[in-house]
Amino acid sequence: APVLLWLRQDLRLHDQPALVAAAHEGAVIPIYVRDDDAPGKWRTGAAQRWWLHHSLKSLDTALRAKGSRLILRKGDAVTELRKLCEESGATAIHAIRHYEPWWRKAEDALGDRLTLHDGNHLAPIEDVTTGAGGLFKVYSSFWKALATRMPPEDPLPMPRTIQAPAKWPKSEALADWKLLPTKPDWSGGFDVWTPGEDAARKQAKDFGDAVAAYDVDRNLPSIDGSSRLSPHLHFGEISARDVWHLVGGGRAALTFHKELAWRDFTRGVILDRPDYGDHNGREKFDALPWRRSEKDVAAWRQGRTGYPIVDAGMRQLWATGWMHNRVRMIAASFLIKHLLVDWRVGERWFWDTLVDADYANNSVNWQWVAGTGIDSNMWGRIMAPLVQSEKFDAAGYIREWVPELAKLSDDLIHDPDAHGCRPRDYPRKIIGHREARERALEAGRAAR
Ligand code: FAD
Repeated sequence: APVLLWLRQDLRLHDQPALVAAAHEGAVIPIYVRDDDAPGKWRTGAAQRWWLHHSLKSLDTALRAKGSRLILRKGDAVTELRKLCEESGATAIHAIRHYEPWWRKAEDALGDRLTLHDGNHLAPIEDVTTGAGGLFKVYSSFWKALATRMPPEDPLPMPRTIQAPAKWPKSEALADWKLLPTKPDWSGGFDVWTPGEDAARKQAKDFGDAVAAYDVDRNLPSIDGSSRLSPHLHFGEISARDVWHLVGGGRAALTFHKELAWRDFTRGVILDRPDYGDHNGREKFDALPWRRSEKDVAAWRQGRTGYPIVDAGMRQLWATGWMHNRVRMIAASFLIKHLLVDWRVGERWFWDTLVDADYANNSVNWQWVAGTGIDSNMWGRIMAPLVQSEKFDAAGYIREWVPELAKLSDDLIHDPDAHGCRPRDYPRKIIGHREARERALEAGRAAR
């Protein structure tokens, strides 16, 4: 009988332990189930549906080159997989382990017929533990423990052949899933991306040339200093181990390795706290007096807050499905602290607009910025957007994403209001920094 290869956020053929195990057993039926039910409100957002379309297409092409193909189904994953077992006579399913709570539930429901493999992370998440055997709550201690196990194991080679089953089960057509936007088609700026495994591997190799400069350059939004591997990593078009080995760089890559390790760390957090995307890591913050202002939230989403660095980031996000990490921190802090809007509102917007939206990375980073998480207790840390903008030399970045300000010089562009040179088509500051800061601190006292 054939075996099923259940693919989720591991859309690749290299370093794919579930594929290797399945191919070893005999004929393989690779399957992707589009499940909008199990994740509920965390179903794939709009920007990622665009990515998913291209990624699935690319994976199917790669499989066909090996005499195989990708079977597509839509519906509850557990139900569809059980149906496929009956249709094909398969008794075994291989998959890579996932940590999103809805996937863990599905994995449990499939019981004995499912064999799970580790393979999406630098090390198996449950193996990196504290002296007492628990998962780490603080990143720095996590890294210390993980580092002793690094470099990661060597990636597995791609199987030379993938045996096809005697009969292929029925597949839906990708086009029928209508994953791409039509009216309106907002994806024009997404042409900076090439989804799929080949592009991911090329990106990792190319980034190897820049990795030594990453320590400094990654903080400068005007420079393309980071790897831009996040959507590829989210969809598992490349494994973290493969990234480590393809990027190379030895000691010079230390800062990069530490960032990559954040991704492993966040899996541990959601394993420990599956509802982290919906609940404060520390309960006392449930008492924060959040403001509800549709107007302010709309200004933030549209990049019209009057703070050029925030607006540049939010517009880059909308146009390309990605935002520079330093600017993500500034824009998130601005929504939470300056506008006093619940971090979950921002988390949801990112979920729908990021091509790299990832339940663990998104929730952990939002709670980290908010200071409501298990790892930090830092409500009082309030980023000053204008200081950040100057310090990290964001003038070029602002010019690119806020064309209304393109004519302003480097020293005026960070804060046109203060210098009396705000163009008429650019909004006034939505709130003053000092006033916002006081209000946020006062709110923090209310939660204490
Ligand atoms: P690089 O700097 O080249 O890093 C390499 C890889 O390491 C990334 O691709 C990513 O997989 C991982 N990584 C780097 N920084 C982090 C981090 N802080 N936390 C977890 N993993 C990290 N990242 C996501 O992948 N998905 C999200 O939904 C997401 N939401 C975020 C929300 C906020 C408010 C903030 C502040 C950060 C968020 N990040 C998220 C983390 C980070 O901004 C992105 O991973 C990074 O900007 C992606 O660009 P890159 O691939 O060039 O990163």
